[in-house]
Amino acid sequence: MSDPILSVSKMSSGYGDFQALFDVDLALPAGTVLGLVGANGAGKSTLFKAILGLLPRETEMVHFKGKPIGALPTEALPPMGIVMVPEGRRLFRSLSVDENLMLSAEHGRSGEWTREKVYDLFPILGEKRHAPATSLSGGQQQMVAIGRALVANPEVMLLDEISLGLAPIVVNDVYAALPAILETGISAIVVEQDVERVRNLAQNLVCLREGRVVLSGAANAFSKADLITAYFGE
Ligand code: ATP
Repeated sequence: MSDPILSVSKMSSGYGDFQALFDVDLALPAGTVLGLVGANGAGKSTLFKAILGLLPRETEMVHFKGKPIGALPTEALPPMGIVMVPEGRRLFRSLSVDENLMLSAEHGRSGEWTREKVYDLFPILGEKRHAPATSLSGGQQQMVAIGRALVANPEVMLLDEISLGLAPIVVNDVYAALPAILETGISAIVVEQDVERVRNLAQNLVCLREGRVVLSGAANAFSKADLITAYFGE
């Protein structure tokens, strides 16, 4: 297996006095997808926030391409090639689709992902490029959130529950775009409640329970029963 492009070592973090993560370890091999699963409140979003420096972490807790990056401020990560698609999408609501993408491109890296390429991937966004983000459906807004990450030309994408609040048929549309994204060499950690969906996409899985890693390994090594036990305990 290739060297990890991103790794987390002994990550402990939380909110003030409340510790939400306990010694979490994981490694994302370059060019692969890691599925991060676990029940509500297990600590998945918290882990993403801690990787990005939105919550406290220490220098050696996060490595990117072998270098410790846990002391870097959040805004230093997109120019290095690490971006998140946050839960709830967090678009600039008063800005158009095009403007949302443009702002992100300014803070990322240059590369093959341009706004035009995003519009090729999601043609509906090309049609609505001048429309305010608020006028879009939930699925279309999720496409903008993904497009916004892409135009920063990341090497690593952290995708936090991109299916949240979307109708199943819309979730299929959003997920249908992922293979084309991954083919461009982007590595990803994907948080997803639908375990079957994430198992089809990811080479590796990590399951968190109450802020601790309770299962970690190749996605095809685990049965559904293994995962249910990992989610909820014995
Ligand atoms: P979900 O699927 O519900 O998003 P999650 O696995 O992403 O779950 P987190 O949101 O990371 O879980 O929550 C981990 C723990 O941290 C939970 O106990 C949660 O209540 C707590 N927590 C999350 N956000 C905050 C916050 N802003 N302030 C205090 N505690 C928080």
